[in-house]
Amino acid sequence: MAFPPQGMRSEGGNVLTELRSGSATTTQVGYLNRNKQRNHGTIGLAGTDHMQLAYKMICEQDGCGHEYGANGSDIFQRKCPRCQSGAEGIVWE
Ligand SMILES: [Zn+2]
Repeated sequence: MAFPPQGMRSEGGNVLTELRSGSATTTQVGYLNRNKQRNHGTIGLAGTDHMQLAYKMICEQDGCGHEYGANGSDIFQRKCPRCQSGAEGIVWE
């Protein structure tokens, strides 16, 4: 039994290989906030806010579909950087 799975590390801040949910309601994979911003999970990268992870967000406004990174603490009120004049997303690639 190999645990943790290959590519997964237990220390905070290391990169995981798969998107996963956080611990809060708003950081669950699939969470959609009031601005139609969908959370697609975190790969374990640190965000730009204290002790926050960066989450992959995709805008579900009609005709947008913009992908960007957001701090876990920002998800519930996040606005799309492209179509809602939200703050610039976190770049992790
Ligand atoms: Zn958008």
